[in-house]
Amino acid sequence: MKLLVAVKQVAALDEDFEIRADGRDVEADFLIRDVNEWDDYSLEEALKIKEAAASPVEVVAVSVGPEDADEALRKCLAKGADRAIRVWDEAIEGSDSIAIARVLAAVARKESPQMLFAGVQSSDHAFASTGVATAAFLDWPHAAVVANLTYTPGGDTAVFRRELEGGVLHEMQIECPAVLTIQLGINTPRYASLRSIKQAAAKPIEVLSLQDLGIAAPDVGESGSLSRVRRMYIPDKGRAEMIEGDVEEQAARLAQIIKDAIGGAA
Ligand code: AMP
Repeated sequence: MKLLVAVKQVAALDEDFEIRADGRDVEADFLIRDVNEWDDYSLEEALKIKEAAASPVEVVAVSVGPEDADEALRKCLAKGADRAIRVWDEAIEGSDSIAIARVLAAVARKESPQMLFAGVQSSDHAFASTGVATAAFLDWPHAAVVANLTYTPGGDTAVFRRELEGGVLHEMQIECPAVLTIQLGINTPRYASLRSIKQAAAKPIEVLSLQDLGIAAPDVGESGSLSRVRRMYIPDKGRAEMIEGDVEEQAARLAQIIKDAIGGAA
């Protein structure tokens, strides 16, 4: 029995950063990489199922990304994932969530897990759609924003709860194989010990190409995507001015600011 966990290496902005010359992303040197927070929770959920199981369960972490995504996968191995798979090909660069989902679905077909966990969203791009789109490619049932899960490995169904508006809970049952998107707070993710981090550094990461998955290059990247980033920019900040002086001076300054603003708009 196998559980597949989709893990994204996300990027956070350094204090100072610059936009790339093409204006469509942040310059890579100004990004701090880490495992997407939501994916930490879905890995923990898979590990909990594995540890409570009476029969063997294999937890496989999968990431679509260039070599630096290995760092995220090594963290998963250190926490207890049995295997790690990274898929990359330069043609994948510029993929939207639909094209990434196409790749994840191909990995799921190859691995045949009982369930695929994805995060509700990624902290950097926040598409909040990759997991659900993967389910659509696979033609598997899916559920989004899962906040509590009960699953006995080997079972044909899983039972879970979703939080709805106004504190109402939705308890649902789903046929497996299924895709679940996991919400923050479903569990308490563990920390990896120093020893397991060292051990994980020596563990292999399986690297798959598009060819290995039977995906044609035009089906990923910008050509295989239905959306693309036109530009990334920092919006102009509003200005603030403290008006000093006595009441008359303040009133005069305020009147001037209003006149200038009206003049500027005219
Ligand atoms: P998003 O749709 O980008 O907000 O991401 C939602 C979830 O999809 C993430 O929490 C991951 O589980 C999965 N995901 C997105 N991009 C990737 C990727 N490049 N590799 C593996 N999983 C991904």
